[in-house]
Amino acid sequence: MSDEKHFTRRRFLQFTGLGLTAGAAGAPVVATAQLKDAVGGTPPAIAKLLREALLPQPKGARVVVVGGGWSGLTIAKYLKRYNPAFDVLLIDKQPAFVSFPLSNSWLADQIHLDFLSHSFFDAADNHKYHFLQATVLGVDRTSRKVYTDVGYIAYEYMVLAPGIDYDYGRIGVDDPEQQELLFQHYPGGFVSTSELLTIKHKIQSFKGGTFLLNVPSGDYRCTAAPYERACMVAALFKKRRVRAKILLLDMNTGIKIKKDGFHRAFDELYKDYIEYLPSSEISGVDLDGKAITTEFDEYPFDDAIIYPPIRASRLIEEAGIVNPRSPQMAANTDPFRYHVVGDEHVYVTGDSRGQPFSKGGHTAHSEGKYVAEVIAAHALGKEVAWRSPQTMCFSSVEIDPLQAMSIITYYKFNKQTNVFDFDRTHMIEDWDIQGGQASLAWAEGMFRDMFYR
Ligand SMILES: Cc1cc2nc3c(=O)[nH]c(=O)nc-3n(C[C@H](O)[C@H](O)[C@H](O)COP(=O)(O)OP(=O)(O)OC[C@H]3O[C@@H](n4cnc5c(N)ncnc54)[C@H](O)[C@@H]3O)c2cc1C
Repeated sequence: MSDEKHFTRRRFLQFTGLGLTAGAAGAPVVATAQLKDAVGGTPPAIAKLLREALLPQPKGARVVVVGGGWSGLTIAKYLKRYNPAFDVLLIDKQPAFVSFPLSNSWLADQIHLDFLSHSFFDAADNHKYHFLQATVLGVDRTSRKVYTDVGYIAYEYMVLAPGIDYDYGRIGVDDPEQQELLFQHYPGGFVSTSELLTIKHKIQSFKGGTFLLNVPSGDYRCTAAPYERACMVAALFKKRRVRAKILLLDMNTGIKIKKDGFHRAFDELYKDYIEYLPSSEISGVDLDGKAITTEFDEYPFDDAIIYPPIRASRLIEEAGIVNPRSPQMAANTDPFRYHVVGDEHVYVTGDSRGQPFSKGGHTAHSEGKYVAEVIAAHALGKEVAWRSPQTMCFSSVEIDPLQAMSIITYYKFNKQTNVFDFDRTHMIEDWDIQGGQASLAWAEGMFRDMFYR
């Protein structure tokens, strides 16, 4: 039986979620309509998806890495390092990589976009793996195939590192039309490069008034980044003498990290700019009226960056591997070895992971080296001892020249409570020029490791 017949249209719709979307919304989506029109045959557009992708024949066991972010890039490189016989294929839907870490410093004109931008081709070429620009639509773990918009790809091992998605429902915005408007007009800047470009334009062209930012609740991406961003936006407004008030609504009860440092920065550097409001649980956004509502108040704004709570990438759900106990739809994986429970050929890493490690690029990078070693060892019937990821995070608070604070931390598993706790931590909450320079040197070192020799 051919793969095309074996993998039925019905099954394809099930695993991509298209069938579910059509049923739940009660309205036909394009793919469903096309299928209904196609009497007696699979429409060409669908048939293309069900064919094998045109790729060179693998020269060893193929490992497909989905997502070319900090996690996927690191894993692809180190898989080849630990087992040169692997045929490694990295897939990303984007044509190029733009770093989120340090993007707040770019917003405040302290670095160029070139510094943050790198080519997947350079990474693949320098580290001897393949890169494919494609969108992954779903996974069939039984036949070990990953389905993309250019066809399916068979794998021996697969790593899913697709990052995060926003969860607008958790700030009271459930209507897809309102979600789209909110995303386009007031992007959070934590998922895609277009969001960052929109934000840069917003803050560069802001003429004055109330500029609203928020800190989401839950385990969101990069704990310090929303506070850092408030500082960088304030620094820019201050430098340009824009008469603006930055309203920072924190959905948490207080600053979550580098608390003393950020409080001091708000009070000493940006007293006339930043108004910090903790315990501000956002319950709705009035797009027409340009206002945010919380349980007790309404906050009008002239412009805003709205960062909703997050969840693991929807791809994890579409792959059918969500941990039912995870409020953020993270994958159901072994907490030490990262494979999907019951499947040692599929691994989930980076910000989609189920473990409560800080969602950071540095965390994903150090974890990625370990996971690559775990997979390489598994292929040889061996095991490696668990080691903690390392989280390192710089937060810029002042510009011209850039000045930053920093933290380094590790994790340990608490056998009494069965959860991961912070282990040794080193935090510097006094910002200075050395901190700013160290942040640039750190990023440069990371980019060199992921992209160059
Ligand atoms: C403003 C900001 C500042 C930050 N500052 C820091 C910092 O100072 N230090 C730090 O350590 N971390 C920082 N972070 C956090 C860091 O960026 C993330 O933790 C890190 O990017 C996570 O890596 P990842 O590989 O899991 O996800 P990502 O980097 O998001 O990569 C996921 C990749 O998967 C791809 N993808 C998703 N779905 C599909 C699909 N279906 N098909 C194909 N490809 C797909 C995406 O295109 C993307 O390239 C910051 C983040 C932001 C937004």
